[in-house]
Amino acid sequence: MAALESLGFGPFFAAQMERLGRTDLVPARIASEGRGQYRLRGCRAPLAEVRGRMHVELGPLGWPVVGDWVAVADDDERAIIHQVLERRTAMTRRAAGSESDVQVIAANLDLVMVVTSANRDFNVRRLERYLAAVWNSGAEPVVVLNKIDLESTVEAMVEEIGAVAIGVPVVRTSALTGAGLDEVRQALAPGRTVGLVGSSGVGKSSIINALVGRELQAVQDLRRDDRGRHTTTRREFIELAAGGILIDTPGMRELGLADDTVGLAHLFADIVEIAAGCHFRDCEHRGEPGCAVAAAVESGALDGARLASYHKLQREIAAAERRRDPVLGSNAKRRWKSIHKAARDLARHDPRRQP
Ligand code: GDP
Ligand code: ZN
Repeated sequence: MAALESLGFGPFFAAQMERLGRTDLVPARIASEGRGQYRLRGCRAPLAEVRGRMHVELGPLGWPVVGDWVAVADDDERAIIHQVLERRTAMTRRAAGSESDVQVIAANLDLVMVVTSANRDFNVRRLERYLAAVWNSGAEPVVVLNKIDLESTVEAMVEEIGAVAIGVPVVRTSALTGAGLDEVRQALAPGRTVGLVGSSGVGKSSIINALVGRELQAVQDLRRDDRGRHTTTRREFIELAAGGILIDTPGMRELGLADDTVGLAHLFADIVEIAAGCHFRDCEHRGEPGCAVAAAVESGALDGARLASYHKLQREIAAAERRRDPVLGSNAKRRWKSIHKAARDLARHDPRRQP
C-alpha cells in the first residue's frame, strides 16, 4: 500500500475525512476510470465502484475522475466509493450541449506541463489556449518547449512564449538528446501530481518515457484481451520511483482538440445558427446562392465584420493545419465543417468523441 503522502494526500484532504466523521471510510486516490470502474491507490482494494444510490451522495462534484481523492469503504478486492472529496484543482472543459456546465477531466494536479514543440508545430495561439485551461484549473503551468534539437531559433520562440505566458517558466527540452530533462525532473517531487497537455506529436510520450527511464515496463499495463493475447494499454497514473505522479489521460490529451472544435463553435454560435438556413449544407458563406449568412449581413442582422473575422479564423486554422500536416491541411475545409457539425450536435455528443 503506497503511503498516502507520496500519493499527494495532505491536510486539505485529511480535514475533509475528519469532517465526514466516518470511521468506516478511508481515503484513496483514483488512478483510472472506465465504464464505472475505478482503479484505486492508497487503500487495500485495487478496484472500486460507485454502487447504486451511493452516487447520489457524491454530491455536486459528480462522478470521480482520475486524480480524485475519494472516501471508500475498503475491501480486499473491491471498495465502494462513498464520497468524492473536494478538489484542490480541476482540469475542466465545457460539457456538451451547455454553455455553463463543465466536465472535469482530471483532479488535484499541482502542475501542468504545457508541451509544445520547437519545430513547425509551434503555435502561440494554441499555447495560449492550453495555458488558459491550466490557469482555470488552479494548477500551476509550466511551458515545455520540446524538440530543441530540431530548431536553431529557440530563443526567439522562448521570447514569443514569454509574451503570452507572463511569469510562466519555460523549460527547453529534447526528449531525443535528453537536454533539459533534469529541469523537468526537478518539477516532480514526492507527493506532487503533474499533468501533461499539448497537441499530438509534440513529444509528450517521449518525455514521459525519458522520465520513467528504466521503469518503462511499468508505464504499460499488461493485459490479456478477449482472445487471450497480451495487449498493452497506456498507464494514466504513473508513479515515478524518484517520487511524483504523472497523469496522462486521453481526456488531458484531447483537451486542446475538443476545446478548439467546441470552443470555436461557441465563439461563432450566432453564425453557425444562421448558417443552418443556408441552401447548401457545406456553404462557406462566400457568395454561394441561397446563403442565409450573406442575407443576414445584407439585412443588418449580422455584422459584416463578424463574418470577416470568422473567415479570417477559418484561414488561420487551415494554414496551421497545413503547416502541421500537409495531408491534414488539405482536409482543413472538412475540419471546419466538422466545427459546424460540432455546433449542431452539441446537445447530442460528448465533445471527447468529436473529430
Ligand atoms: P505525443 O503525441 O505528444 O505523445 O508525441 P510523441 O512522444 O509520440 O512524439 C512524436 C514524434 O516526435 C515521435 O516520432 C518522437 O520520436 C518525436 N520526438 C519527440 N520528442 C522529440 C525531440 O525532442 N526531438 C526530436 N527530434 N524528435 C522528438
Ligand atoms: Zn452560407
